[in-house]
Amino acid sequence: MKYIPEPFKIKSVEPLKVLTRSEREQKIMDAGYNLFGLSSKDVYIDLLTDSGTGAMSAQQWGAVMVGDESYAGASSFYKLRDTCKDIFGYGYVQPVHQGRAGEKVLMPIFLSPGKYSISNMFFDTTRAHVELAGGRAIDCVNPAARNPRTRASFKGNMDTARLVEIIKEKGAANVGVIVMTVTNNSAGGVPVSMANIRETADICRQYKIPYMLDAARFAENAFFIKREESGYEDKSILEIVREMFSYVDVFAMSCKKDGIVNIGGLVGVRDTNSNIIQKIKANTISYEGFYTYGGLSGRDLEALSVGLYEAIDENYLRYRIGQVEYLAARLDSAGIAYQSPVGGHGVFLDAADMFPHIPYTEYPAQVLALELYKEAGIRACDIGSYMLGNDPDTGKQLQSEFEFTRLAIPRRVYTQAHMDVVADALINIKARAGEIKRGYKILWEPDVLRHFQAQLEPIK
Ligand SMILES: *Cc1c(COP(=O)(O)O)cnc(C)c1O
Repeated sequence: MKYIPEPFKIKSVEPLKVLTRSEREQKIMDAGYNLFGLSSKDVYIDLLTDSGTGAMSAQQWGAVMVGDESYAGASSFYKLRDTCKDIFGYGYVQPVHQGRAGEKVLMPIFLSPGKYSISNMFFDTTRAHVELAGGRAIDCVNPAARNPRTRASFKGNMDTARLVEIIKEKGAANVGVIVMTVTNNSAGGVPVSMANIRETADICRQYKIPYMLDAARFAENAFFIKREESGYEDKSILEIVREMFSYVDVFAMSCKKDGIVNIGGLVGVRDTNSNIIQKIKANTISYEGFYTYGGLSGRDLEALSVGLYEAIDENYLRYRIGQVEYLAARLDSAGIAYQSPVGGHGVFLDAADMFPHIPYTEYPAQVLALELYKEAGIRACDIGSYMLGNDPDTGKQLQSEFEFTRLAIPRRVYTQAHMDVVADALINIKARAGEIKRGYKILWEPDVLRHFQAQLEPIK
């Protein structure tokens, strides 16, 4: 697999320091074997998340200087509105400070106690806001996504047959909103086909259920459609994006992903006469700020207007997805398993395959993440039983369907040589995987979202 050369050159650099192995062992022990507890200066290659960690372009930094910081009616807002009209075809967009803020604004409009929301797969904050609004969240991903070794295109799709069954079972009037997440982050950043987005739209119309796009990685999804779905080969990314958004009623977006900004989010409504716009504005004013800035500064809005166009540049997307696929191809040659094919924003390593002898109660995906740090200063994270936590009723450790160690690749930040460091580190770890006999135990954990703060200890 050939690496697709970067379609940019580098004007501004951030020096990195590489600690010795023994220094890293000390640092991670001091952090209680929690990678979130590390200081970023002690990390060489930071693949903790692709959220807000991308590199802005010279054009974006230039735009920052013309940000209009007026409280109401800033020109930066109107520019962003025009950008969104052009890219998404939506007449009303609402800036918010990040994706979950959009969820907080939107979900109470559709959901209340007794209502359900169904998705191809909820991202964790989206699920949380469904529940905070009183609703219940149901995942409805197609079964192929549940098998990391099955290579299928559009693994992120909604299981539409199952969707209809759930609607009938719960009653259409009790389903407040159907959410399509593109790409399907929780299943590995795998894409959703246009046919599936359209088919789900038909179901929503038939049962009169509002349809929402969770659009954090809309551009990466559009690239997969162009490359892999018949009938879209000759369409531009912009045309594909407009078509994707044309099927839904509303969208929420974390712009920290495909907006290529360090902070920002959007909510959009397709029908400018919709009565939910007033409710969105009211919620935004209460939680985020006046509706022409929504918790962002004028300069953030400017950087986002530019970033959205850069994200739909096909050359950028080819390089972006190509970089992830290059890393995956190196792992293929070493027989290292991951959710395959890789999605757009990272590699989800199958830690249960690497450490079949380590039970879920000793957190194999956290073991692999910690080994990567000790081996080469790489920071990844556990998306497995360690992250899942305990059953709220019994207090017993839950077993996750997957033990993934996620390598999320920030946008435009790392080079081919960095990808090689990651692949080489994994190859070294695989070679001695049998010698890593035991996992970790938790010494202290908070009640919710424990993986951010828990303190661990290696089992002797
Ligand atoms: C990141 C993300 C969110 C939440 O966005 P934040 O900006 O982190 O608040 C929601 N949905 C998906 C699919 C995401 O990837």
